[in-house]
Order: sequence, then C-alpha cells, then structure tokens
Amino acid sequence: MRVPLSKPFIGNEEERLVLEVLRSRFLTRGPILEQFEKEFAAYIGVKHAVAVSSGTSALHLALLLHGIGQGDKVITSPFTFIASVNPILYVGAKPIFADIDPITYNIDSEKLNEVIDEKTKAVIVVHVFGVSCDMKPIMDICNDKKLILIEDACEALGATYHGRKVGTFSTSCFSFYPNKPITTCEGGMLCTDDYQKMLYAKALRNQGRSGEEWLEHRWIGYNYRMSDVHAAIGLGQLRKIDTIQRMRKHNAEIYTKFLTRISGVRTPPHIDGRTWFVYVTQFEERDEMARKLQVKGIECKTYFPPVHLQAPYTKSGFKEGDYPVCEAVGRRVLALPFFTNMTIKEIKYVVDNIADALNS
Ligand SMILES: *Cc1c(COP(=O)(O)O)cnc(C)c1O
Repeated sequence: MRVPLSKPFIGNEEERLVLEVLRSRFLTRGPILEQFEKEFAAYIGVKHAVAVSSGTSALHLALLLHGIGQGDKVITSPFTFIASVNPILYVGAKPIFADIDPITYNIDSEKLNEVIDEKTKAVIVVHVFGVSCDMKPIMDICNDKKLILIEDACEALGATYHGRKVGTFSTSCFSFYPNKPITTCEGGMLCTDDYQKMLYAKALRNQGRSGEEWLEHRWIGYNYRMSDVHAAIGLGQLRKIDTIQRMRKHNAEIYTKFLTRISGVRTPPHIDGRTWFVYVTQFEERDEMARKLQVKGIECKTYFPPVHLQAPYTKSGFKEGDYPVCEAVGRRVLALPFFTNMTIKEIKYVVDNIADALNS
C-alpha cells in the first residue's frame, strides 16, 4: 500500500463552477471571485475578505497595510512554515522570535512579552496545525504595548478560541495550497474589518491601482490577484467546509484512538475548538521512524524544522540554542499521512507499521 502525506478533496461542485468560469467572459476579476470573497468573509465572521495569489502574499500585504517596514521589529514564532516569517524581510523589517509552548507548539505569551523593546512594532501569531494561539494574554500584551497584531491563520481555517473564530482577532491571513483543508491550487485570503484597509489591499494586489482608471497607479503594487478559475475551486470547497472539517476530525480521532494503545508515540492535543490541518506525532527516534515508514510506502514529514535555523536566518545571526523548546520539538515531530477522505484501512496501515517499527 502507498499512503500519501496529503491529498486534495475535490468533487463535482468544483468542476461545475470551474466550467462556469471557463465558459464565461470573466477569467479574472469576475463575479465568482467576489462571490468567493463574500462567502469566505461570512464564514469567518469578518467584514471583508480579499482573495490573493497565496498565503504568503496575504502576509506580505498584511504587513504593508499596517505600514510596517525599515527599522521595525516584528515578533513571531520560530516553529512555523518559513512563509510566516519571510514577509517580515520583504518589507525590510527585522524578525524577532519568541519560543513556543511545548504542548500546543504555539508562541508562548510570556516569552513574547520578554522580547518586546521600543523598536517592536508588530506581532504575527501563527495558529499552528489548527490550534488557536492563547489569544487573551497575547491581545492584552499587544493592547498594553500598542503593538499591531496580525494572525497567520493559514493552518487554522475554522478553528475557534473560546468560541470565537481565529482570523477575527486582527488582520488575518489564510492559504489555499493543496495540502490545506480547502484548496484553490494556489491562493490565499486576507481578512479585515477595516474598510480602508480592504480598499488598500485590493489596490496593492492589483498593481497599486486606486480606482476606476485602469492605467492610474497610485502605489507600488503587486500582481497578487487570484483568478476566477481558482476562486471557483475555492467556492466549491468552501461550500462543503463543514463536511471537510467533520471528516478530518473523525480521522484524527481514529488515529489517536489507535495510537494511544502503543507506547513510544506522542499523539497531538485534542483541544476544544481546534481544526485538523495535519496530524503531527512525536517520536524519540524520529528520523529512524520516518525512514521505516517511508520504506513501507507511508509518506511522512518532519514538520517543522525551526525557522531560525534556516539559511536566511542563521545568516543574520540566529543559531542553535536560541529557542530550546522549539528546537527540542523540531527534533521529534513527525507529520503522518492525513487527508479528508482517508480510509480506516489507510489509517490502520500507518498505525500497524508504527507499532512494528517501535517493536523492532
Ligand atoms: C501554508 C502556509 C503559509 C503560506 O501559504 P502559501 O499559500 O503556500 O503561500 C503561511 N503560513 C503558514 C503557517 C502556512 O502553513
């Protein structure tokens, strides 16, 4: 058997919507794009959603909307996908990390508080693997120190914190890369309740055009647009989001039920309000486990190696030992195959091979 790490879940509704776009005059900047934005905003519970070309471009725009740039420090987590951090460099600001909580893998609010200084302008919180950050203390700190808050919610679509959806606490960003719970092939979304920020984001994604005049460019913008073909896929996906989340939760529960019978594997936390982007375990001998599973046709990945130990960051002076919790977690984590329509048979196959590997 071969079990992939992830697999998109696309059906007739997406095909029908894509065909509708292809047979229309509007391949980009059309009505399906607007519909996707409208339904996405309603789902999250924000006033405005601006569809863009990726989660990375959404994060870049979020920093620009808040005027973050040269000389500013931006604090974020070292335990994330590198795209949470690189946009800080795009705008010429300086990334600062704060270590993580060993259970949720999210930024530790006390460590966050410790690294704030007079140059600190913003905090990007990352809701890693579908678990919300501890927003209450983080928002208190940001209010107290007058810091801008940005949410990287790329991995946590639909997750809640004390009943409130992530992505509603601040300017927020989502991704629709194929391994995410809903996909547009490539794509992202920026959410805000601020009308002016929404207009500015729409201008920046479209070459800095400010209004009606196609050849009038008020700002240095980008081509961060999402096409209507991509939006059509997203719309079809969004309309079955509750089913997708339910299936993923069910798969995670089955995994955990089976894996807790085996000693030597640490299962992920089933925290209230979380959604399931990936299913990440921990093993003492992680690399050996990964090798043994791969031989059996089971795709797994060592999510995440610490960002501060990646070349662009070691070059600017970050080093081994800087964030010990993140580094310890980074050495042990292993993401198992996980996708919406995974079968019990596939889950069983993975679990049985983990048991075999631990026993041999
Ligand atoms: C996927 C992801 C991104 C980037 O999204 P892209 O659409 O691939 O650009 C950013 N941050 C996190 C935490 C992600 O998981």
